[in-house]
Amino acid sequence: MTPETEGPVGFTELGLRPELLRVLSELGYEEPTPIQRESIPPLLNGRDLLGQAATGTGKTAAFALPLLQRLTRAERGTGPTALVLVPTRELAMQVSEAVHKYGRDLGARVVPIYGGQPIGRQLQALARGVDIVVATPGRAIDHIRRGTLALDTVEAVVLDEADEMFDMGFAEDIELILEATPSTRQTVLFSATMPSRVSAVAKRHLRDPIRIHIKAMHLAAGESPLVQQRAYIVPRAYKAAALGRILDVESPTAAIVFCRTRTEVDQLTETLNGRGYRAEALHGGMNQEQRDRVMTRVRSTTTELLVATDVAARGLDIDHLSHVVNYDVPSAPDSYVHRIGRVGRAGREGVAITLAEPREHRLLQNIERITNQRISIEKVPTVADLHARRMELTRATLRESIIGGDLERYRAIVESLSDEFDLVQVALAAIKLAHEADGAVEEDQNEIPDAAPRPSRDDGPRPRAGRREERQGRAPAGGTTRIYIGAGRSVGIRPQDLVGAIANEAGVNGRQIGAIEIAERFSLVEVPEESADHVIRSLKGTTIKGKKPTVRRERF
Ligand code: AMP
Repeated sequence: MTPETEGPVGFTELGLRPELLRVLSELGYEEPTPIQRESIPPLLNGRDLLGQAATGTGKTAAFALPLLQRLTRAERGTGPTALVLVPTRELAMQVSEAVHKYGRDLGARVVPIYGGQPIGRQLQALARGVDIVVATPGRAIDHIRRGTLALDTVEAVVLDEADEMFDMGFAEDIELILEATPSTRQTVLFSATMPSRVSAVAKRHLRDPIRIHIKAMHLAAGESPLVQQRAYIVPRAYKAAALGRILDVESPTAAIVFCRTRTEVDQLTETLNGRGYRAEALHGGMNQEQRDRVMTRVRSTTTELLVATDVAARGLDIDHLSHVVNYDVPSAPDSYVHRIGRVGRAGREGVAITLAEPREHRLLQNIERITNQRISIEKVPTVADLHARRMELTRATLRESIIGGDLERYRAIVESLSDEFDLVQVALAAIKLAHEADGAVEEDQNEIPDAAPRPSRDDGPRPRAGRREERQGRAPAGGTTRIYIGAGRSVGIRPQDLVGAIANEAGVNGRQIGAIEIAERFSLVEVPEESADHVIRSLKGTTIKGKKPTVRRERF
């Protein structure tokens, strides 16, 4: 890993072409993550690469950007120049979306191929011409056998999450696929762990690879001992809501909330301000004057939350900071350590909170192992916890007011009301007003789903594609799936509307429908996995509350 002393390296120094730099800047990526810094230059030079990195480290861009750099509009034929193999359908969709996004200004043609999707659509997409195929091994083999995927134009192959692919029994398929590609190809293998089966494949198929893995970082003795470290596993769609709720319960004196990108910083700041917090954004896209203004407000405590990227917050020292929040799991353990080192200084206590998406859980364990410190996984506060906390705050406020005195001028009101009402009733009404005036209007009635990992159910054989999904908290025990419906409270959706629509349109028994969450703009409904596709198809054509909402599987 590049030592800190070499100074920051930007995407420009990595040698990427302007079309890619432009997109990265628009996405708000301020600097490459360690894995990107290490991988991109050798990959651009055509080297093979063996990388040990988990999800969340930015490894998709680490291999995708060099693949995209190769694309030249002029010579494009119909056959792919690159093939990315991934273990699951989910990942195929995610990676292909990411590659498409990074390759936007190059007009990259990216096609995901995976089981479960009608093969006809994939055939059409392949026939139209493709630059980068992102495939699960099983479906790639199907296409190779049918003669619909020729790999003789392939210049680079990426095996992403190789350990997962082996665990899922794809070893043989991978061998067959690699044999179908030219032996002159560049080969890249990423794996979170390096069991001997994976190293053996790397040895057979990679030529003199560059080896990269996130180097272990040890905390200096006594570093950050007073920081309590907590994490919450939350699906992406609920992160902002979960953060709000956690902040309500924690009541930080001042907190820095770290985000990965400028865009995320801006969006989250807006969301938090919309929810009544005093939040300020700080990122590399701001000029010095704007930053100084923000820091003055933070130091004078008119701002309680500073939402920032790592780059912008480098070197900041805020005295009264009580909390550090990682809105995402940092892409490298060192960055986690640096971030949390901002609290718990000078013997004060501090709290570090990390929000992780289900797929990032492994990254969190990695940080725990490397820092040799425990991060306790907590449950997101429930609606009841929140109410209890707000009540407690109201109680404390009243208590202070009683102790503070200066109440005599209200006595006349109490006495006049006491003729008509019981004193307790008068007190109750006054408390209600105080409680509500404190902003504690209890509108947030939706539970946030707990996506913390469950203990595994059995060790028997599992369907191939099921494994990862289970790890992601996607398919809880009993094989259910959550369906996203793009209509929520804002158009007056109630649970019975959803149950009615699903029962009538898809013929699914109401009792088979599980938990229903209704958020402001969308709803999530749990249905049996085997009926999910049918329910989605059936609902797509219907109107709910006069709207034709988007219906799809929930994304993480
Ligand atoms: P991955 O490990 O590829 O799944 O990436 C994890 C997340 O980090 C994705 O949401 C990316 O959009 C984001 N990401 C990747 N590279 C960067 C970067 N250099 N700066 C900020 N965010 C990034």
